[in-house]
Amino acid sequence: MKVFCITMIHESNRFSPIPTSLRNFADNVLYRPSTGQGQHHLGQILAEVDLIDLMTARGHEPIVGLIANAEPSMPLGTGVYEELREEILGNLKAALPVEAVLLFLHGAQMSIDTPDCESDLISHIRHIVGPDIPIGVVLDLHCNIGATTIEKADIVLACHEYPHTDFRIRADQVMNILEQIVSGTCHPTTSYVPIPMLGFYVPTEEPMRSFVDGLIEMEGKYGILAISLAHCFAAGDSPDTHAGVIVVTDNNQDQADQLAQEIAIEFWRHREEFSSTMTTHQEAIQIAQGVETGPLIIAESTDNPGGGAAGDSTEILYGLLEAGVRDVAIAMIWDPVAVQTAIKAGIGARLRLTFGGKTGPCSGSPVDRKVTVLAINETPFQNAQGARVSLGPSVAIEFSGIKIVLNSIRQQTFSPECFTELGIDPTAHKIVVVKSSQHFRENFSEMAEHIICADGSGTVTRDFSSRNYKHLNRPIWPLDPLPFDAYGKTWT
Ligand SMILES: [Zn+2]
Repeated sequence: MKVFCITMIHESNRFSPIPTSLRNFADNVLYRPSTGQGQHHLGQILAEVDLIDLMTARGHEPIVGLIANAEPSMPLGTGVYEELREEILGNLKAALPVEAVLLFLHGAQMSIDTPDCESDLISHIRHIVGPDIPIGVVLDLHCNIGATTIEKADIVLACHEYPHTDFRIRADQVMNILEQIVSGTCHPTTSYVPIPMLGFYVPTEEPMRSFVDGLIEMEGKYGILAISLAHCFAAGDSPDTHAGVIVVTDNNQDQADQLAQEIAIEFWRHREEFSSTMTTHQEAIQIAQGVETGPLIIAESTDNPGGGAAGDSTEILYGLLEAGVRDVAIAMIWDPVAVQTAIKAGIGARLRLTFGGKTGPCSGSPVDRKVTVLAINETPFQNAQGARVSLGPSVAIEFSGIKIVLNSIRQQTFSPECFTELGIDPTAHKIVVVKSSQHFRENFSEMAEHIICADGSGTVTRDFSSRNYKHLNRPIWPLDPLPFDAYGKTWT
């Protein structure tokens, strides 16, 4: 069948210091069929899914519209979302008639003028294709789901895994259901139950792992087509910023409603045990002081650009310096100006360089040191969830036994290439610091002797009470005292 498919992904962080324009997308992934911009991204593996490969493998004719994916940052600036939306709607109108629509969206995208971009986009698409063409949606599990998304789409699934390694599996599940809808062999009924929880959960750890495995186990049995757990994106700060459960059954609304309620209550009951534990920066540095053989990987989660942080915080670096910790490799500190200065100085140069700590109060103070330029790479790349992403011109510098990669295109540390592209072997260091919360595990776990996730005072802090939330639907756990009433029931 002829399937229209697009990707529009942005995780919007209301506490981020980084503005969001079309440039943010162009720096990462932006293909616009109307202009031919970014043609090389057509068919690119994105979020580990190649849309053309996905469709042709299932015998369908793909019509690929916009492919856009930017690093998390502030809600999109005025007119930016509208330009992406109009591109998609124009692509769709040009592709008509189509038999199904597949949308890869984040689920936590906001703009200055539109608090729920996904719901807005799906509503517009529904208006164009009419009530009979099925719309399937794949979301990131860090989604803040609006009721309109559920109402206007036929199938909404979030990934189960974090790192998000199952997008292809979820896309195939959505396509399976879309094919059955078109052939008339299935009639999906969906229930969405919101849960008044803010949190951060990692299915790589118990007891969360077993809970997620239990959900996966139920899918495809007893008329249950799909189950999704929306973790929420806590820095979204919108009325939809909270957890939730989506259950899709085959033509049985009562079953969907009952199961979604049961899973929501189970998730709520275990919220404390399911919440990922973090180490403070101070504790992380104390552990680093005692390391004999490494590498100990410190995930500087609180300054993770993958959650909307600047990626130029010097908090951990200062802590390591003051504690006298040496044999350290850090990737990456985002500082395009310092990169240009070091490039001009050249490989082997010794110069006084001021870097990092520039973007805002969450970034700490700049570091001013005499450094050696170890390596320069004008075109380094890393593998980021299957996509080949440019780091921008980058350099490796060294001082006091600490090697640091400075880069020019802000992004989280997905893979060891962030080090090796600049001639640093991370396995040869006692301490390795990465700016990431969880995605680094996919490519770093094997080399790590030990991993700790460190929470400080940065943009992506887990100390939710430190944030000045303005748009949340209150009450919500853990900010408000229990018991409270929300979404038609009492939460205790
Ligand atoms: Zn995510």
